[in-house]
Amino acid sequence: MKIEILELSDNHVRFILKGSNPAFANALRRIMISEVPTVAIDEIVFLDNTSILYDEILAHRLALVPLKMDPSLLELVRGESDLSKFQIRLILDVEATDGPMIVCSGHLKSEDPKIRPVSDNIPLVKLIKGQKVTLEAFARLGRGKEHAKWSPVSACSYKYLPIIDIDADLCDLCGRCAEYCPHNVLKLEGDKLTIVDPLSCTLCRYCEKVCEREAIHVKGDDTAFIFYVESTGALSPIDIVSEAANILKLKAEDFLSKLKSHLSAPEGEVDEEDRPD
Ligand code: SF4
Ligand code: SF4
Repeated sequence: MKIEILELSDNHVRFILKGSNPAFANALRRIMISEVPTVAIDEIVFLDNTSILYDEILAHRLALVPLKMDPSLLELVRGESDLSKFQIRLILDVEATDGPMIVCSGHLKSEDPKIRPVSDNIPLVKLIKGQKVTLEAFARLGRGKEHAKWSPVSACSYKYLPIIDIDADLCDLCGRCAEYCPHNVLKLEGDKLTIVDPLSCTLCRYCEKVCEREAIHVKGDDTAFIFYVESTGALSPIDIVSEAANILKLKAEDFLSKLKSHLSAPEGEVDEEDRPD
């Protein structure tokens, strides 16, 4: 198995996973979306809310504010099923004294500077003069499979690596495939049809449809995958991918140890907890 990083920034990574298979790629994708834990607001005590928004609506908005989290927490809770022990308090105490104002995520004050809103500019509610909001919010660790607010990714997908095959004997260089390709993957340069940007190919196979000579064929390589992972900002994209791999490894180890204990236990002496559902 090999990994080639194509792009890396603070909030996204694009990489090619080679020498793998669809089951592994999909397991990794699903774990990134639903099992890598993050911190999100889960409970709120409203002390005062004279804004136009009901408490429930404001609570919903607050819960969806992505919170930056300390990546060292990942190691501490790896393999734990109960994440409820970890809790952090944030305070929101604002009043529009001078005129209308927009309350933003930056107004939330966290008691732990490492856990704070990813952006200070997420609007929460608009207040007019004299209105106020005072509340205590409790953020907890959780996983995306419980609620999307805990998912660390805003986008997480992969596609098969495209294989574009042009039969030079059949191709008459009419250029139709290059003209109709929606992603400018192909280019007719002089007396040569060139694949200029193979990674942008979406496998739509439109080039095959417009080619009257059946000279071009496109298929996906089911051993190589182009991943795109975009973080909400809670964790770095590399932390998300590596933690997903750690979780997958733990699952495989757990499966192996249970399998071994089943095989070694005398018949009828298998622990009920280890019995498959
Ligand atoms: S449409 Fe077919 S024949 Fe025309 S340039 Fe493309 S591959 Fe060649
Ligand atoms: S499959 Fe679609 S995107 Fe890929 S080269 Fe053909 S037309 Fe372009």
